[in-house]
Amino acid sequence: MLNVLVTGGAGYIGSHTCVELINNGYNVISVDNYSNSAPQVIDRIKKITGKDMKSYCCDIRNKKDLEKIFSDNKIDVVIHFAGLKSVGESCKKPLLYFDNNIFGTIVLCEVMQKFNVKKLVFSSSATVYGDESLPPYVESMPTGKVTNPYGRTKYIVEEMLKDVFSSDNGWSITLLRYFNPVGAHESGLIGEDPKGIPNNLMPYVSQVAIGKLSKLTVFGGNYNTPDGTCIRDYIHVVDLARGHIKAIEKTMQNQGINIYNLGTSRGYSVLELIKAFEKATGKRISYETGSPREGDIAVVYANTDKAFCELGFKAQFDINKMCEDAWHWQSKNPTGYVIN
Ligand code: NAD
Ligand code: UDP
Repeated sequence: MLNVLVTGGAGYIGSHTCVELINNGYNVISVDNYSNSAPQVIDRIKKITGKDMKSYCCDIRNKKDLEKIFSDNKIDVVIHFAGLKSVGESCKKPLLYFDNNIFGTIVLCEVMQKFNVKKLVFSSSATVYGDESLPPYVESMPTGKVTNPYGRTKYIVEEMLKDVFSSDNGWSITLLRYFNPVGAHESGLIGEDPKGIPNNLMPYVSQVAIGKLSKLTVFGGNYNTPDGTCIRDYIHVVDLARGHIKAIEKTMQNQGINIYNLGTSRGYSVLELIKAFEKATGKRISYETGSPREGDIAVVYANTDKAFCELGFKAQFDINKMCEDAWHWQSKNPTGYVIN
């Protein structure tokens, strides 16, 4: 049985990936400082899978603690989710983002190197494509013209990992560029639990539906798209999690550095997503159109051919299921993991 160390294992994508890993026979060890999650998540993962998993409360920037975890467990491969992800916050606190996302990855790689663990799957983002090229985004397109410090941390870590591989071809590294993960596990036991007012569309819509927020503001109605609102490639988080199983299989087989988009290749506008949510849940979403959000790109969607051809990955769930499961999670856990 392979031992997979999952940094950020209690987070939104990490928790869903832990479930899929355990269900596929992997032994999971989570490392999380719970800065944007809660230890209760681990119990929920155990409840869904009916299996045990190890979890450590540890900041990956703490080298001593991380080394202890590597010396106590024989790690075969690492999936690295731990990081901060708010675009707005990254503009206000760039140093915090560079420290957590870049320095955190440096410490992790140093410890991996020390323990001769050289297989890594990294959570990157479609944001690295910036606004240089037109969609659909293909992995070979140029990257780096990012529009905010968060995106820059993803771009820099990608470049750093390419250099790590160039320096030592014993590494096997997979960079996954996520498009827009939404939805939740169908049990309603784990899901996205943003702190404060959500920045992202789907959790915002869900909180309007449950009455926590009164109205959604649609950021911009005059984009060059059929209905004037921005288009994104939403992918069900369980599909995304399953993409990691494929990525692990590839990372274990190959030495090299491989990059894959994880999306559906189908874009939905903000208004289409609102309509789909209303249809799936029977809830009405009040909204008004406001000004565009700084840095937003009109149309973003993936070309997913490479993930399909090389990993055999194809997303299964449609927009209806994404909305249904997001709502199931929200309505079952109106205050998230922490019960008020
Ligand atoms: P999340 O905030 O829910 O999960 C990240 C987890 O990492 C949290 O549990 C947090 O407590 C933990 N963490 C943060 N810094 C840490 C540190 N220094 N040490 C230990 N643990 C730490 O976010 P998510 O949505 O699950 O995203 C996971 C990864 O995927 C992130 O790297 C994010 O940038 C990337 N990503 C997310 C999206 C998205 O839309 N959710 C899109 C593209 C890429
Ligand atoms: N959006 C919106 N209102 C909100 C949050 C988001 O209209 O309150 C729009 C946003 O402009 C973008 C889309 O919804 O076009 C997806 O935004 P999100 O922040 O979820 O993802 P990202 O910007 O990372 O693609």
